[in-house]
Amino acid sequence: MIDHPFFRQALPVIDRLEAAGYEAFFVGGAVRDLFLGRPVHDVDIATSAVPAEVKAVFGHTVDVGIDHGTILVLHNGAGFEVTTFRTESDYTDFRRPDRVEFVRSLYEDLKRRDFTMNAMAMNKSGEWIDPFGGKEDIERRSIRTVGQAAERFSEDALRMMRAARFVSQLCFNLHPQTKEAMTGHAPLLGHIAVERKLNEMDKLFGGRSAGKAVSILIETGLYQYLPGLSGQKAALDRLAGLPLEKLTAEQVWTAAAYLCAEADPVPFLTAWRLPQKRIKRISRSVGTLNRFFAEGITDWQLFQAGLESAVDAAAVASLLPGAKEIDARDAASGFEALPIKSRHDLAITGSELLQWADKPRGPWIKEVLERTEQAVIAGDVQNERMEIERWLRACNLL
Ligand code: ATP
Ligand code: MG
Repeated sequence: MIDHPFFRQALPVIDRLEAAGYEAFFVGGAVRDLFLGRPVHDVDIATSAVPAEVKAVFGHTVDVGIDHGTILVLHNGAGFEVTTFRTESDYTDFRRPDRVEFVRSLYEDLKRRDFTMNAMAMNKSGEWIDPFGGKEDIERRSIRTVGQAAERFSEDALRMMRAARFVSQLCFNLHPQTKEAMTGHAPLLGHIAVERKLNEMDKLFGGRSAGKAVSILIETGLYQYLPGLSGQKAALDRLAGLPLEKLTAEQVWTAAAYLCAEADPVPFLTAWRLPQKRIKRISRSVGTLNRFFAEGITDWQLFQAGLESAVDAAAVASLLPGAKEIDARDAASGFEALPIKSRHDLAITGSELLQWADKPRGPWIKEVLERTEQAVIAGDVQNERMEIERWLRACNLL
């Protein structure tokens, strides 16, 4: 019996496929996570039915990845990914296969999967199919390829990064032969698209053992084939030595960008093809981090940073030598206590300045607004229209 809501919810899908004469099993990460006692979010189903047959069995389906055999089955208001058993062939350029071949054998499907812990299946009664010793490896906390590691990494070099990110997420170790093959085949990672690397790196940075995983990138030499990290061993050693489990993934990116590209984090983040919004956020946090170190955490620094960047920068700064007194909570409460949080909150705008001063429009407006912000933050003047006007006249700023 399967005692898990997500799996139970998917049982009718398996029942329907079986009733139509096909095999169907739970597979992949959800099965692994169930055995590990980790939270399960979505379950994948593998079946002997080819996509057209899956579509014939169910009324409502969406072709989400039909070339790779994946059909989304909509059932009782939920969606379930159903993928035809397949093998992969014709790996060229050490990347994903050019062609997938549908097969009728679960064993063949499990055999093409990356690691033993990810190559287990479970039937609807909760019985395990574990031909490669996945459970045993999970109990040993060991990440081991299905079959010869060298061969599997030559087929798809991204698997080496997946191994490192699972180290981070699961706090597992690499099986010695798996690690040895990673070390020997690291240059193949050069053939992999940055987008796929980024996807794994985000998961690696977000895992509980990110520091341990960064050490693996260093020890295996994988880092040499990652954007912006080639030749950055010293910086990565520093990163790996930090208690990264205290940081969010975005804060680990901030720490990495700070340590690997202090002068200008933007080219580093751009090389990783991060979306513009994330580049802006992380580079802003790196800038804040630099200012925290140069000038300390002042109210003015917090104001300039904004809440998100102040918190991220303080969280990273608190882990770095020379800034022990800084912590993210202080940054958040310090920011919340500011009399204004942004220029929007200022009681005056540029048009008031134009009205008050008998001067033409010009760059002076921006300067005076900034002086006003500084004075309000410092408590020299209250954030009130008349008070500000009086203060500006007293300071001869109008
Ligand atoms: P997560 O919990 O992060 O989703 P996952 O193991 O489910 O981890 P997915 O990328 O969702 O990872 O892949 C689902 C399954 O497909 C894996 O468990 C594995 O069996 C197989 N798989 C994924 N990527 C590869 C790959 N590059 N090579 C071989 N098998 C793979
Ligand atoms: Mg998954």
